[in-house]
Amino acid sequence: MRNHRGMENRWDCIVVGAGAAGLSAALVLGRARQQTLVVDAGGQSNRDAHGIGGLLGHDGRPPAELYAAGRDELAAYPTVELRFGEVPGGERRDAGFVLELADGSRETARRVLLTTGMDYRYPGLAGIAERWGRSVFHCPFCHGWENRDQPLGVLDRGASGVHRALLLRVWSDDVTLLADGPAELDADDAERLRAAGVTVDERRVAGLLGPDGTLTAVVFADGGERTCGGLLVPVTLHQRPALAEQLGAATSGAGPLAVDAVEVDSMFHTSVPGLWAAGDVSSQVPSVANAVAAGSSAAAMIVVGLMSEAHGLTPA
Ligand SMILES: Cc1cc2nc3c(=O)[nH]c(=O)nc-3n(C[C@H](O)[C@H](O)[C@H](O)COP(=O)(O)OP(=O)(O)OC[C@H]3O[C@@H](n4cnc5c(N)ncnc54)[C@H](O)[C@@H]3O)c2cc1C
Repeated sequence: MRNHRGMENRWDCIVVGAGAAGLSAALVLGRARQQTLVVDAGGQSNRDAHGIGGLLGHDGRPPAELYAAGRDELAAYPTVELRFGEVPGGERRDAGFVLELADGSRETARRVLLTTGMDYRYPGLAGIAERWGRSVFHCPFCHGWENRDQPLGVLDRGASGVHRALLLRVWSDDVTLLADGPAELDADDAERLRAAGVTVDERRVAGLLGPDGTLTAVVFADGGERTCGGLLVPVTLHQRPALAEQLGAATSGAGPLAVDAVEVDSMFHTSVPGLWAAGDVSSQVPSVANAVAAGSSAAAMIVVGLMSEAHGLTPA
């Protein structure tokens, strides 16, 4: 396939991002003998977590180990090349795409798959960063098991605080809703929490205590402390800088987690012909298992689309 300069598109597909979604996609593309370039900046969102909770066959495995194993598997497929670095920009051109690489070079491709993940933003409370993905977490399904049966806190208020505090009761019978101000509960919700044995603490939260990524207590602005071994915090997910937008992909309005997920159809195709997006970047249900599945499905549909195009069928 030629682009507007008469140059061959060098790659069948460029996969931007090599986390769970991108590695999974590259594996399918490699096994289908597609010329595939994978470019990755090495910032997988769960890299600080001590283990991946809930991934079949890899439950509790350190994230870096999983990604290294995924990269090793790709080495068996000669049509796949993996490069480290950022893709700072790109554009759609005629029948394909031109992407800039961090070293200033440009690569052309017939398809682009964005598996760029999302930026997880948590509250600006001192002490979260060094405990993130360990004793402070956003997903009870990912980290509830490791933090089970100890005093747990939920930093939140209102209806979402109620929901999350009741959910955390699955993992501990000692749960406190830390409202960091007025808890904003109606009478029914207050009764639900009381009946479930959830304590409500409205003191202003000032910081966290505990050595080496652990949490032992929450500290309040009034100088008081509450014993706490694990803290569930709210997050919002945001597009990482620019690439999806530069390539013209529409984003959806704010959902329960992601404020600007890339809009895709059921096969992970975006609003831009030839541009696909899989994993957190286009999801409201972020998890490693979902990212693996999405990357795999998107890659298969890319192969089918390229084959269709080559044989004059309606391209996907
Ligand atoms: C702290 C934490 C703990 C978690 N724990 C769990 C858990 O236990 N179990 C679970 O199922 N889920 C967990 N999750 C969610 C899970 O990590 C994500 O849903 C999943 O990793 C998403 O995979 P992905 O491939 O879409 O994105 P990512 O893993 O974020 O990978 C995206 C990759 O793309 C790269 N990239 C981005 N932009 C560019 C660019 N322009 N150029 C080149 N590369 C780029 C990034 O650097 C990164 O390497 C956790 C999330 C967090 C934040």
